[in-house]
Amino acid sequence: MTKSNVKAYAAQSATSGLGPFGITRREPGPSDVHIEILFCGVCHSDLHAVRNEWSSVMPTVYPIVPGHEIVGRVTRVGSAVAKFKAGDLAAVGCLVDSDRDCPRCTEGLEQFCPHLTLTYNSPDKHLGGVTYGGYSDSIVVDERFVLRVPSNLNLAATAPLLCAGITTYSPLRHWGVTNGKKVGVVGLGGLGHMAVKFARAFGAQVVVFTTSPGKQDDALRLGAHEVVVSRNANEMRKHAGSFDFILDAVSADHDLNAYVSLLGLDGNLTLVGAPEKPLALAAFGLILGRRSLSGSAIGGLPETQEMLDFCGKHNITADVEVIPIQKVNEAYERLLKSDVKYRFSIDMASLKS
Ligand SMILES: [Zn+2]
Ligand SMILES: [Zn+2]
Repeated sequence: MTKSNVKAYAAQSATSGLGPFGITRREPGPSDVHIEILFCGVCHSDLHAVRNEWSSVMPTVYPIVPGHEIVGRVTRVGSAVAKFKAGDLAAVGCLVDSDRDCPRCTEGLEQFCPHLTLTYNSPDKHLGGVTYGGYSDSIVVDERFVLRVPSNLNLAATAPLLCAGITTYSPLRHWGVTNGKKVGVVGLGGLGHMAVKFARAFGAQVVVFTTSPGKQDDALRLGAHEVVVSRNANEMRKHAGSFDFILDAVSADHDLNAYVSLLGLDGNLTLVGAPEKPLALAAFGLILGRRSLSGSAIGGLPETQEMLDFCGKHNITADVEVIPIQKVNEAYERLLKSDVKYRFSIDMASLKS
């Protein structure tokens, strides 16, 4: 197979940080799309993977090239590609392949396929080794896993939609958030700020829960109707039993029961953050009110396209701070302190310099 050499940023070990590294991409096969990467968002998962912090579930193979919030321009397509041509905008999220024929793939829920290939650190079926992600010049992906990007959106701010965007859009849709529903968003970070924008666009009454009173103005600007400081028990009590749905995007240890008690009859609390230790839950919180607790992970390909189209129609993107790739290690340190509003987006032109 012909291959091409590509500039990238990789970590060589859990403690090395990221630095320049050359990788190989396959030549596009008949159904492949070759994309020049313009922007790549920085997801907290990138940091976990680079530092091998999820070693019990997904041990990191080094060198690792992270990045799964990819936006770029199509440069070449294989002979059988129907959806894309050279010059089109295109995007790639967390998945680059799956078995494509299991019941989940057939339903368009590829994110739950037992044989999915993640954009980075998954076995690479074509070249051997592991897949390399979006902190690179270009990527080659089967067209089934490539998304179309609306032409009216800012591209740097579109990249985070591919993980932070779909991770919040999907559960809001699944749990029927529409006009008139009361929706809570716990935590105003990369995920939370997208959840606020989507819930507002769906017509919901949106309440943000935060531990930092300083985030109030920002939450309102992003579309929240009300902000509750979660440490204030009185403020919390005022909302008891009143929510249709709450999305919890906090990955630090916190008290779930306080939020379960805010749900109304048949209300649902969905987790998209992943605290390290198991969370304690009082069963009566769920029993009295037929409430439910769920999790959710990204979205399938059809829903990711639906989300991007929705964003194009409603002019929704992430709030980003654009950085050159040379600042990525510094960005990781700032990410740990939540010192970003609300997502870093790497301008991949910087990789050429
Ligand atoms: Zn991510
Ligand atoms: Zn499958």
